[in-house]
Amino acid sequence: MEKYLSQLNDAQLAPTLQKDGPMIVIAGAGSGKTRVLTYRIAYLMHQGVDPFNILSLTFTNKAAREMKARIAQIVGDSEAKNLWMGTFHSVFAKILRIEADRLGYPSNFTIYDTQDSDRLIRDIIKQLNLNKDIYKYKQVRSRISSYKNSLITVKAYFNNPELIEADVAAKRPKMGDIYKEYVDRCFKAGAMDFDDLLLKTNELLTRFPDVLAKYQDRFRYILVDEYQDTNHSQYLIVRALSDRFQNICVVGDDAQSIYAFRGANINNILNFQRDYDDVKMYRLEQNYRSTKNIVNAANSIIDKNKTKLEKVVWTANDEGQKIIVNRLLNDGDEGRYVASSIFENKMNNQLKNSDFAILYRTNAQSRAMEDALRKRGIEYRIYGGLSFYQRKEIKDVLSYLRLIINPKDEEALKRVINFPARGIGQTTLDRLLVAASHYNRSIFEVMKNLDKVDIKINSGTKQKLSDFVTMIESFQIMNETANAFDLAEHVVKASGLIKEFNKDQTPEGITRIENIEEMLNGMKDFVEEQKELADTTGSLAEFLEDVALATDMDNDKDDGDKVALMTIHLAKGLEFPYVYIVGMEEDLFPSAMSMNTRSELEEERRLFYVALTRAEKQAYLTYTLSRYRWGKLIDAEPSRFIEEIDDEYLEFLKPKEHQRANPMLDADIFGDVEPDKIRFKKPKKRTTEKKPPKFIPPKKLKPVSKVGGSGEDANLFDGKLAKGNIVEHMRFGKGEVLKIEGVGADTKAEINFENGGVKKLLLRFAKLEVL
Ligand code: ATP
Ligand code: MG
Repeated sequence: MEKYLSQLNDAQLAPTLQKDGPMIVIAGAGSGKTRVLTYRIAYLMHQGVDPFNILSLTFTNKAAREMKARIAQIVGDSEAKNLWMGTFHSVFAKILRIEADRLGYPSNFTIYDTQDSDRLIRDIIKQLNLNKDIYKYKQVRSRISSYKNSLITVKAYFNNPELIEADVAAKRPKMGDIYKEYVDRCFKAGAMDFDDLLLKTNELLTRFPDVLAKYQDRFRYILVDEYQDTNHSQYLIVRALSDRFQNICVVGDDAQSIYAFRGANINNILNFQRDYDDVKMYRLEQNYRSTKNIVNAANSIIDKNKTKLEKVVWTANDEGQKIIVNRLLNDGDEGRYVASSIFENKMNNQLKNSDFAILYRTNAQSRAMEDALRKRGIEYRIYGGLSFYQRKEIKDVLSYLRLIINPKDEEALKRVINFPARGIGQTTLDRLLVAASHYNRSIFEVMKNLDKVDIKINSGTKQKLSDFVTMIESFQIMNETANAFDLAEHVVKASGLIKEFNKDQTPEGITRIENIEEMLNGMKDFVEEQKELADTTGSLAEFLEDVALATDMDNDKDDGDKVALMTIHLAKGLEFPYVYIVGMEEDLFPSAMSMNTRSELEEERRLFYVALTRAEKQAYLTYTLSRYRWGKLIDAEPSRFIEEIDDEYLEFLKPKEHQRANPMLDADIFGDVEPDKIRFKKPKKRTTEKKPPKFIPPKKLKPVSKVGGSGEDANLFDGKLAKGNIVEHMRFGKGEVLKIEGVGADTKAEINFENGGVKKLLLRFAKLEVL
């Protein structure tokens, strides 16, 4: 153990060695917070604390697995195995299964993912005859989510005039009714959504003192990573569980709080000292991750935020390279630059793909990066986005499997009752739903008792329904003895799913089959893995639990050497030698939706701080001159965050010749320019320039004199523009018309622009204003 403790500095040792009592470690990025938690757990065990009594909560299950593996290295496998580690959701889902009957839930309850919730909400909006343009299901879902995370139950909602008034003011007076129906339907389906996992845990711990006492006694030592991003519901759980022994250690960085939009409450960190007696507060100041340049640049950014705890972060690491800032034409150009830079870095420094990460503000930005990496033959992996388990064909298989475990599961049933088609139409389903509501039973129960319920369904359809019930019941019988893999393999065949997907021999159809195979392979691995562990059996229920709780980070296996692509939100806690932060533009980052208040802008700034501090050796920032947003090509302006970094840490690349080597690739922004006619200004000898050019907002176009740009009805352009006219172009600025050529749709103008020289533009596409 001494050997391991010597891997900590003095500041890190103090919280590691303090065995008991409440403590908080507040420290900047890369200062070893996660390392302290890991070593602390190992040290607790070394001092004789039973791993059974330690609970550690992390941001992803992957982080938990890594932590456990590291601890196992220190204290040995068999000891580490009994630690309770994972995300809030995965740990409390386990506890809820054990205690489900207290809350009237079956222990095999289903966990609805957001797709399931969305489908149910859309159903309810339809059923209540509400206008779906006013009651947008995503907004409704996020509203319900925020009630739950603030522990506002349906009853509490209806007892709170302020909440009702707020929804009335937002022109959604029926929100409460939707909420109530949603909760009822989930309950009847034996299902919990993600927010329920926390809400119901709170309910369990407050309503049943004996249950609370049991888990308080069990979890004598509680540790929480990324504490700055806990929401109110999570906060209350931690507080309740730690109340008796008060051995609670939380670590976090207020400067990295980036989940306020999902209800994270930074006050949890700020008020920690108020919540417990005798809190020890530790600070770590030395960053081990990044170069001086990166650490100082990140400090200069976060300094601009007013709401923050004062912190020192320094590093003894090398000065390192300056942060490279590059301006590109558009997203295609940006992708090509990033891909070629990765390629060069790999060649010059003998690096692996996994040494690189590309981070972006929104998932949509990944496409251009993927295209460029593919063309360069660089392997990459996208984290987040639509996860494997949310693909249609996979959800179809999973729905059958979910029904086996929990036949009340309404969303699963609706998904597969008539897929593959077996002649059970929407009308029948609607009638079943009405009957289920009338008898206060699940649809499956109604289907099992068709003879006893009052329902208008003809005998042919009744037979089909009863065949379906028989099929599911036969799977249930098999589930009593078979493992998850064998059962699933049987189900995809017996249900007709494979046959159905095999009908489609297009590449997409074939991919679907391959995905199902991939899932079965995964199940096989799962079964094999579980065999080695004493406390699990590789059952279907266990597999489904794993799938339901896999976070965006966990869904992706670490298979091989790949460049990592992900949103900045997902990158929290991670580190990479080389980091490219792309799309550094106003309205994208900071996001247009987060610029209304100072606190929103400060959250964006913290997000940038998180992004930059992921880099160990070298960071790159790129922005483009124009970008498609909401289907329109717009001028982009460099992000204010670039300006906020002290210049001494930056190196601005001069746009290079190669980026414009093939202007046809970028014809969309140039108008239809003939390549050989383009004369770019020669790049100056100097390779760096001080600041990106200041953005001058384009003048409003006067509609009367506007020509071109519509891409149709070219006759209109004849005669409107003449030699000698002075025109203005959104990007190239003012210019003089030298020549008009061609007629109709082919009319071209040769224009000498102030910024860009002579260009030939196809008037059909060029957006010009005659001055
Ligand atoms: P973040 O805020 O990004 O989550 P963190 O504070 O959790 O960062 P860690 O991830 O624990 O920081 O540590 C950052 C890096 O520094 C890791 O690679 C870790 O192994 C290394 N490190 C931390 N402490 C030391 C130390 N005392 N000696 C050597 N390396 C260290
Ligand atoms: Mg960390």
